[in-house]
Amino acid sequence: MELKGKVALITGASSGIGAATAVKLAAHGVNVGLAARRTDKLQALVAQIKEAGGQAIAIKMDVVDIESVKAGVDQLLTTYGGIDILFNNAGLMPASDVETLKVDEWHRMVDVNVKGVLNSTAAALPHLIRRGEAHIVNTSSIAGRKVFPGLTVYCATKHAIAAFSEGLRLELAPKHNIRVTCLQPGAVDTELFEHVSDAGYRQQMEGLRKQMTFVTAGEIADTVVFALQAPSHVNVAEVFLLPTKQP
Ligand code: NDP
Repeated sequence: MELKGKVALITGASSGIGAATAVKLAAHGVNVGLAARRTDKLQALVAQIKEAGGQAIAIKMDVVDIESVKAGVDQLLTTYGGIDILFNNAGLMPASDVETLKVDEWHRMVDVNVKGVLNSTAAALPHLIRRGEAHIVNTSSIAGRKVFPGLTVYCATKHAIAAFSEGLRLELAPKHNIRVTCLQPGAVDTELFEHVSDAGYRQQMEGLRKQMTFVTAGEIADTVVFALQAPSHVNVAEVFLLPTKQP
């Protein structure tokens, strides 16, 4: 896909993988809708992108709230007239053993990591179909391929995204020429680990950093750009990228 002039909606664009991908896409001439809740971060990123000669708008969006998602998609359509790329990337990863029954955190993960992806897909899909050629990238994880103790519910949400991505690909590619990429990163150096409330698991994850060099958000963004730039008859269906030393 020729990226110049295309329009992308990126959820979870206020930090980490989403922010890095926004910067790279804007540098390729994509008009980017940056969606998240922390608008101060989004505004700063818009300024950075514009200073570098790119185009972007900040979209205040809570992916859990379908009305907020619909309003964000409308804002993007009003500004840029359509949508070609949907990057479903917002997510969170509190870690705890199931027996500690942090039910609120489980629900929050299901709400953001799964229902959030469903909400933004529902809001954007009719517009993607209208384009005749489009691309959806969903951020699953290495945790969508295997299961880690302490991340049981997180892994369940990321397995759901892997399954949803494959189903979307099978349904949408033949009928609507929409490519679907399931992104499955290993450990990436972002804010994700800062939200782990369980002290033991937080320490364990910090320990991981000492054992290996994490992938950077920019390196993940490069793979997203690679998938989007593939010729239109090529669908990069899965991207599994992890630190060399991660088992
Ligand atoms: P960050 O914590 O840096 O980014 C998470 C993003 O999600 C933020 O922009 C945050 O924005 C957004 N977000 C969270 N809740 C909501 C919500 N309710 N509505 C809208 N946006 C929301 O971490 P990463 O960049 O690492 O995470 C991006 C994705 O990558 C996640 O899906 C994560 O599970 C996945 N991933 C990360 C890995 C890693 O090692 N870092 C490995 C594998 C997958 P805000 O708070 O402003 O709303």
